[in-house]
Amino acid sequence: MIPYSRQQITSDDITAVTEALKGDFLTGGARVDEFETALQNYTGIKHVIVMNSATSALHVGYLALGLKAGDEVITTPITFAATANASLMCGANVKFCDVKFDGNIDEKKLSELISPKTKVITPVDFGGNGVEIEEIIKIAKKHGIKVLDDASHALGSQINGVKIGNHADATVFSFHAIKPITTFEGGALATNDDEIARLARLYRSHGISKKRLWDSDMSHLGYNYRLSDVACALGTSQLKRLDEMIEVREKIAKFYDEKFEKNPYFSTIKIAENKKSARHLYPILLFSNFWCAKEDIFEELHRRGIGVQVHYKPTYQFSFYKQIYGEMALKVAEDFYRAELSLPCHQSMSMQDARFVATNLLEVLAKFDTSKECGV
Ligand SMILES: *Cc1c(COP(=O)(O)O)cnc(C)c1O
Repeated sequence: MIPYSRQQITSDDITAVTEALKGDFLTGGARVDEFETALQNYTGIKHVIVMNSATSALHVGYLALGLKAGDEVITTPITFAATANASLMCGANVKFCDVKFDGNIDEKKLSELISPKTKVITPVDFGGNGVEIEEIIKIAKKHGIKVLDDASHALGSQINGVKIGNHADATVFSFHAIKPITTFEGGALATNDDEIARLARLYRSHGISKKRLWDSDMSHLGYNYRLSDVACALGTSQLKRLDEMIEVREKIAKFYDEKFEKNPYFSTIKIAENKKSARHLYPILLFSNFWCAKEDIFEELHRRGIGVQVHYKPTYQFSFYKQIYGEMALKVAEDFYRAELSLPCHQSMSMQDARFVATNLLEVLAKFDTSKECGV
């Protein structure tokens, strides 16, 4: 099976991890600072605070931005559950904003959702394709709201030549196994703001800061969200290859773009001229006459060894969210969920693999092609 995404582990990665295992500090050592500095240098962001997952980084991000019980967060439903979950962990409420047909939050629909309780807007750079962050920040500033960008897909992505993470008040990256780089599990909060960074470091480690000798103070209710030196060693080694890995994914994506141009079955998502995507996902959007057959198409592709996946079931459709907010349906998010399939696109694939995916996909869709519309 060619999975939709996969890690790439080289002998350099293995050496880096092995060396870290032989070190004096398995956690809390110099390799953590090294990884954070490397991420700061790569992204150009002043502070990067690494944590044991992007979910932890989201939680800490919300806390550091001052999110409290009763506050409201506006986010997209087309994301992994953690984006909204982490705001609930702070006791806040979630308002879901509809998306555009590229899977990114619709900035034009934000204003109508803003209330006096809104504290944070959390967009997600879907698949690595940057949201309209400047527009979102402008709206947020007007209302005194903070922006926490969930860039779990987007380490290495750019807007107008500037790396994602430099725009929002704070930005989250994920180093889960199949994200742009990996530390097994892991994530980071990035910010150019000194105070947000200070708070994030506190929340990451119990809210405790050292005073002198053995004395310390616990000033905030914090967590243990630290990332180990062994994981950071892998991260530093992976980061050295990030641009190379993005280039491989870009080459596969370009091949798909050309191969699928004007095909009669689905559309693709074009990356705007002024943007560069880390290409964590290569999403296709099936035309509506295929929506009823999507399960069969999915199964047939898996039978042929093509590990497509669907990103994402809208968060508000989960039973947990229905219990809190009841039934809801946002028009574009619903259609996007019905239409979307993520094709294999990762650095461990060959161009031959990409051709195999493209040929089989077109073959399978030809088989399922019917002019019958779904009764949706
Ligand atoms: C993967 C992902 C997360 C969670 O990342 P973890 O590192 O697994 O906690 C959050 N948001 C988005 C958009 C993701 O894709």
